[in-house]
Amino acid sequence: MCGIVGYIGSQQAAPLLLEGLSRLEHRGYDSAGLAVLGTGLKVVKKAGRVRDLGNDLPKRFTGKVGIGHTRWATHGPANDVNAHPHVDAKGDVAVVHNGIIDNAAHLRQQLTDDGVDLASDTDTEVLAHLIARSTAATLEERVAEALSHIEGTYGIAVLHADFPDRIVVARNGSPLIIGVGDKEMHVASDLGALVRYTTTVLHLDDGEMATLTATGFT
Ligand code: GLU
Repeated sequence: MCGIVGYIGSQQAAPLLLEGLSRLEHRGYDSAGLAVLGTGLKVVKKAGRVRDLGNDLPKRFTGKVGIGHTRWATHGPANDVNAHPHVDAKGDVAVVHNGIIDNAAHLRQQLTDDGVDLASDTDTEVLAHLIARSTAATLEERVAEALSHIEGTYGIAVLHADFPDRIVVARNGSPLIIGVGDKEMHVASDLGALVRYTTTVLHLDDGEMATLTATGFT
């Protein structure tokens, strides 16, 4: 299990997320990645250091909503494809995940049988596809529906291009902390990634989900 960061507010997300990820580096990791929502969803991820990821960001990697991850591989080797965030086939949903999905092999097989092409070797990727396939009205319901199929541990943060005003997070056995800023919200798996931005924090409990918007959380 390694690190998650997320930001929604009025600033560009990518530099803040890179800064947050660099504060989680001491925990050890094998790869890192970011997703931002601006005009569409954009993802950059790589095996190796957070610094290398930062050097490799495309010019217009812009958006005021984003999530980031440092990975400690449990399912599949440390390489660019297995790095998080993971996306669905259309590239609408991005998910970062800490933890282990115990029934991943079964879910991967079910998705493959349904004609879904899995891009990575990871357990996490199933979540992106399950969320994308849900037809529930809200992103919160889509995430809850996907999680109802999951056995195992998770801290997750989810972006969806059709719901650009929010980040949905959920926890079961992997820590997640919400940081309340001034007209901006942060989330991280470790307090160390938040202290620079806010001292008002809230720890999610196992079984809880939350929605972050630029103005608050529910
Ligand atoms: N099980 C996931 C993977 O192997 C997440 C690992 C982590 O917690 O960093 O990609």
